[in-house]
Amino acid sequence: MKTNPFDDVSKLVRAAGDYLELEKKYPQQTLVERFLIPDKTILFRLSLKRDDGTAGYYLGYRVQHSDMLGCYKGGIRFHPMIDLDEVKALATWMTLKTSLVDIPFGGAKGGINVDPATLSFSERERLTRKYTHRLVNDIGPAIDIPAPDVGTSAQEMAWIYDEYRKHQSNARAAVTGKPLEIGGSAGRQAATGNGVVFTMLEAIKDMKLENPKVAVQGFGNVGSHAALACRKNRIPVVAVSDVKGGICNPNGLDVKKLIRHVAATGSVVGFAGASELEDIITCDCDILLPCALEGAITENNAAKIKARLIVEGANGPTTYEANGILQKMNVTIVPDILANSGGVIVSYYEWVQNREGFYWEETEVNERLKKKIIAAYNKVRTYAQKNDMDLRQAAYCLALKKVADAMILRGTQ
Ligand code: GLU
Repeated sequence: MKTNPFDDVSKLVRAAGDYLELEKKYPQQTLVERFLIPDKTILFRLSLKRDDGTAGYYLGYRVQHSDMLGCYKGGIRFHPMIDLDEVKALATWMTLKTSLVDIPFGGAKGGINVDPATLSFSERERLTRKYTHRLVNDIGPAIDIPAPDVGTSAQEMAWIYDEYRKHQSNARAAVTGKPLEIGGSAGRQAATGNGVVFTMLEAIKDMKLENPKVAVQGFGNVGSHAALACRKNRIPVVAVSDVKGGICNPNGLDVKKLIRHVAATGSVVGFAGASELEDIITCDCDILLPCALEGAITENNAAKIKARLIVEGANGPTTYEANGILQKMNVTIVPDILANSGGVIVSYYEWVQNREGFYWEETEVNERLKKKIIAAYNKVRTYAQKNDMDLRQAAYCLALKKVADAMILRGTQ
C-alpha cells in the first residue's frame, strides 16, 4: 500500500504542536491546523507537442506552503508518480527545513508527473519552459524560488532562468541550483550530500561509533555526493543501490571508480569488485543513508534494519509507523529536515550571491555550510536531550515553534 506522506507529516506536526502546547498558549488561534493548509496550491495541465508531432499531457504542480519566515523556496520534481499530497508534504517539509536551519525563506515544492527518461532533450526543454511560463506570476526572487529536486538538474534550472528572464530582467535570483556559468553557486551540486555527511559525522561522535560502515540507498545527486564525502572522511561505503539494483563489498567500494562506472553504464549494477545485493535497507552496515524517495523504510522492513544510525538524505524516507518501530529499537535517526538541508542552505547562499553580484570561492561556501548545518544539528541534539525526545521530534518542535511565533507576531488581519 502506498503511504501518504502528507498524513505522516501532519501527524508529526500535530504531535509537535501538542508538545509545545500551542493551543494552550494561544487559545483559539488554531495554529497547527492553519499551518497544515498550504497558502496556495497551483495545479494545472501541461500539453506538450512531442517530437513526433503527437500531443502529450501532464499535470504540473506548485504548492506554496508558507511564507511566514521569508519567500517560498523549494525544488521542482519530475517523477511519474507524484501527486498533490506528495507535493504538499514536500512543501511542508521545506517550511520546516528552512525554519530549522535559520535561513530567511518559507517552503514550497513543485513538479510535473512525468518520467523525464521518456522525454527527448528538446521535449524536456519545452516542458520545463511551459511549466515556468505558467508560473511566471507566482515565482520570482522575492516571491517563490524554485531549485532542483528528483528528476531535475542544473539544466532545467537554466531553462527556468531563461524563460523567466523573458518576463523579468532581474531574474538570476529567481531560481537556484543553476549552472555556474549563469550565476550558480560553487558547491551547490554537492551541498546536499556534503550536508548529510557533516551531520552524520556529528552523530558518529555523539554515539561513539567505532569504524562505522555505510550503506547508501539511491545514487543520484544526493547519494553519490554523500558517498564521495564519506570517502573523503575515510569512512568505508560497503553497499550502494539505485533503481536497477544493489551492490556490496564488505571491505569498502571504490566510490570514485563506481561513479565512473555509473557514468558509463547508467547504473551501479555490474560494478567490478562488488557482489550483488538483495536489499540495501536491511543490509549489513552501521549507518544507512536513504537518499532516494519517500517510503523506503516502512513497517515491513524497519524491524530488520541492522544500522544503528540512519541519516535521511531523502525527504520522508521513513514512514510514520517505521519511525515508531525504529525508535523502540533505539536506532538514532538524523531526520530529513535537518540531514538534507545542505541543498537549500547553499541555495540560500546562491540567492545571496546573485543579489549581491559577488561570488564566493567553493571553500567559503563549504565552510559556511558546515558551520550552519552543525549549528542546527547541535541545536536539535540539545533540545532532544533536554526534553527527552528523539532528534525528529526535537527538529519538528524547534521548526514549528519558530513559524508559530511568526504567525502570532504577524497576526491574521
Ligand atoms: N530540493 C531540495 C530539497 O528538497 C533543495 C531545495 C532548494 O534548494 O530550494 O531540499
